[in-house]
Amino acid sequence: MAKKKKVLFECQHCGLTAPKWMGKCTSCGTWDSMVELNEQEQEIVKLTSTSTGVTKAKPITQIQESEVERFSSNDDELDLVLGGGIVPGSLTLIGGSPGVGKSTLLLKIGSNLAKQGKDTLYVTGEESEGQIKLRANRLDANNENLYLLSEIKLEQVILELSVRKYECIIIDSIQTLYSENVSSAPGSVTQVRQITFELMRIAKEQKIAIFIIGHITKEGSIAGPRVLEHMVDTVLYFEGDSSQELRILRGFKNRFGPTSEIGVFEMKAEGLVSAKDISSRFFSKDNAQPGSALTVIMEGSRPIILEVQALVSESHAPNPKRQATGFENNRLNMLLALLERKLEIPLNQYDVFINITGGIKITETSADLAILAAIISSFRNRAISKETVFIGEVSLVGDVREVYQLDPRLKESALHKFSKALLAKKPSDTFGLKCYEVNEVTKLIDWM
Ligand SMILES: [Zn+2]
Repeated sequence: MAKKKKVLFECQHCGLTAPKWMGKCTSCGTWDSMVELNEQEQEIVKLTSTSTGVTKAKPITQIQESEVERFSSNDDELDLVLGGGIVPGSLTLIGGSPGVGKSTLLLKIGSNLAKQGKDTLYVTGEESEGQIKLRANRLDANNENLYLLSEIKLEQVILELSVRKYECIIIDSIQTLYSENVSSAPGSVTQVRQITFELMRIAKEQKIAIFIIGHITKEGSIAGPRVLEHMVDTVLYFEGDSSQELRILRGFKNRFGPTSEIGVFEMKAEGLVSAKDISSRFFSKDNAQPGSALTVIMEGSRPIILEVQALVSESHAPNPKRQATGFENNRLNMLLALLERKLEIPLNQYDVFINITGGIKITETSADLAILAAIISSFRNRAISKETVFIGEVSLVGDVREVYQLDPRLKESALHKFSKALLAKKPSDTFGLKCYEVNEVTKLIDWM
């Protein structure tokens, strides 16, 4: 009796596979994204989703801690966000919206490595050699150890690796590269799976550090496949868009280090370069306006002083607007509900907009107090002195809580000549700042 043909479907958005077709993917929720795979494609799924090599569990006492070997990219911010430098044999994905500076940054990194004597290969499927050369001139990135290959076929890239021993490869971009051995279209999940798997194998076998550039769609995911994130060692994403002066690179996953640090870059004539003195880049001390308040957040090991802005204006719609850029919308709604309840401000008749300057995203709760202060300041149309920082988390019941790592935040504020701080509790060391205790939200109003 003939063996029954196995059928398998794959979501073209996230890479989920299922034996039955579904109208809506149960993993990522995309409609009509399941496609039936042919036999070859099924093989690739099998190959790339099971781990290679046999592993055997060992008692933890027999395992030696290993220091990860690294080399510097000669770019402080990239080294920091990578966890201390580039790891030989690692596969790193750098994602971001078009025009944010991915190609510029990596061409510069390639040239930094070439200048250290490391042969580096830049594979471009996006632009012509001439265009890259022009950019290299502009970035002062010319070096005889930096090689350029204009190619979209993976097999040709692999062939090039037999000619020269490279220490680093940059793929620009994963969406343009395709394998001739796979029948699916370039950019499809199956292609990306296969190419990433091959690149991972090359990175590990030949100990080459490989960077791949991935473009991000408007919805915020790597165009096409999420599956990429699971396969690579490290994932870094650019936040914000090309309209901002400062570009923030945030670690999303790192097999060789923490993801707590961010890299801050600025776009200059000579390309995307590490921003200097980052803690002073996200606020300005002149010109106090209603609706603005300052806070200090921690990004990994570094304190950053931020300006939060609020605009509260009378609403004529049945449902007033609440919109936050760089701050979580749900948290904003919670803070607004609290203000209404505790302070009897009729915010349900007002639109409220929040913006965090510099395109940074706040990922911790220490800015709550500053957000409230900015909202009240805008509502009352009264400016807050720019000598004050607000640091505190606000709870659902309206008390203000202490935040972790207060010392570096206060120290940074003192360094930038702030004179006052509003906090949940007076600290033992105030670093010369005049500290006011506001342990509940109602006290904030009294102070203001
Ligand atoms: Zn899906």
